[in-house]
Amino acid sequence: MKVRTRFAPSPTGYLHVGGARTALYAWLFAHKHQGDFILRIEDTDVERSTDESVQAILDGMAWLNLDYEGPYYQSQHTQRYQEVTEQLLQENKAYRCYCSKLRLEQLRQQQIANKQKPRYDGHCRDLKECPDDQPYVVRFRNPQDGVVRFDDQIRGIIEVQNSELDDLIITRSDGTPTYNFTVVVDDFDMRITHVIRGDDHINNTPRQINILHALGMEAPLYAHLPMILGDDGKRLSKRHGAVSVMQFRDDGLLPQALLNYLVRLGWAHGDQEIFSVDDMKSMFDIKAVHKAPAIFNTEKLLWLNQHYIKTMQPEDVAKHLAWHMQQLNLDVTQGPSLTEVVKAQSERCKTLKEMAEKSQYFYVDITEYDEKVAKKHLTQALVEPLTSIKNELATLTEWTQTAIHDVLHKVVDQYQLKFGKIAQPLRVAMTGNTVSPSIDITLLLIGKDRVIKRIERAIAKCQ
Ligand code: GLU
Repeated sequence: MKVRTRFAPSPTGYLHVGGARTALYAWLFAHKHQGDFILRIEDTDVERSTDESVQAILDGMAWLNLDYEGPYYQSQHTQRYQEVTEQLLQENKAYRCYCSKLRLEQLRQQQIANKQKPRYDGHCRDLKECPDDQPYVVRFRNPQDGVVRFDDQIRGIIEVQNSELDDLIITRSDGTPTYNFTVVVDDFDMRITHVIRGDDHINNTPRQINILHALGMEAPLYAHLPMILGDDGKRLSKRHGAVSVMQFRDDGLLPQALLNYLVRLGWAHGDQEIFSVDDMKSMFDIKAVHKAPAIFNTEKLLWLNQHYIKTMQPEDVAKHLAWHMQQLNLDVTQGPSLTEVVKAQSERCKTLKEMAEKSQYFYVDITEYDEKVAKKHLTQALVEPLTSIKNELATLTEWTQTAIHDVLHKVVDQYQLKFGKIAQPLRVAMTGNTVSPSIDITLLLIGKDRVIKRIERAIAKCQ
């Protein structure tokens, strides 16, 4: 049977790291077994679902490059849920429940007072006569005896007594289906073979298995992923910093780094830390996912990001850097190729956001100097050497790193200066500050005309 997995987010907020890891594991599992991976948007809760959240999920999946069949929207399957409700009613596997809110509330209070678990008491399960014009919900007729048993791919065998489960509402009085029901109908219709999801759903699984059996389907295999915690041991949330996938993009992460980080967040393959997507696809093993919760570690994520910035093809990093340059309103057609910028900056930046911010001077003129720095480096004594450099550079017919390097060394020798005594002022002239790649590369990338103009401005500033 062909493996079919799904990621089934409810669009009630951004795509957070927990969701992204679930999606990644389900995607990897499908790929490893030459199967299909489906994206299903669980948007039946109209109060809480928003178009922005749907978009955030689609954007996150696209940015992470997790491709899928779909997306399918549950809101478009309403008729199908009604059809299955009818079928279950006709087969007596579900029944109409006319209990009022008041009755249910009284029942609950009574059970709490008796120190019992609140649950539906089956009052309408075998009604002989049904009131005609009363509102009703539809409840699933859960088996009363026996056990539901499943072999969770991560946690092992889980067993729940049917007597622990009450008769779940599958359709509300307004005709809308409930979460546990829509999941089951879709898993059934989509022929899902492996349900990989967060362990916050583990209590739903026995109920869902019972409904699947009622529909005549073998239950899929389940794998419930443990939670992700912050470094304080509490469930990961905004309090711990960025948790939304698109926030990581905005903060300058490479999707490759986030994927690598996420695959290791709860799974290991020996001591290996670095996994290309191909490695992940071939090595990932759902059964090796840890049972214990994972702890999110931003430092490690940044370390991985830097690793990928340094080791990925500069052209590929440049594609992602382009987005950050755009955010800074920089026109990258007015300067060096981004690939060259990546090559020059990759050792010095942990994030692409930082790289974009530190690369602005390649594309726009420097209008201000850091005053303290200018005072220290742009001094009267430099007027002559800087003028010589400017004149020599102006005569260059080839603007290459070697030619620039030779000019700088010639002038340094001529004035018997230490190289740093000229490199730092030049850097201030080029960038307004003292941080940039090696000075010859900096000049090379800024380009001849701009370099000449910036030296002229700096000379005027020397006092
Ligand atoms: N829609 C559910 C959620 O976002 C997931 C359902 C499932 O994977 O079965 O938590």
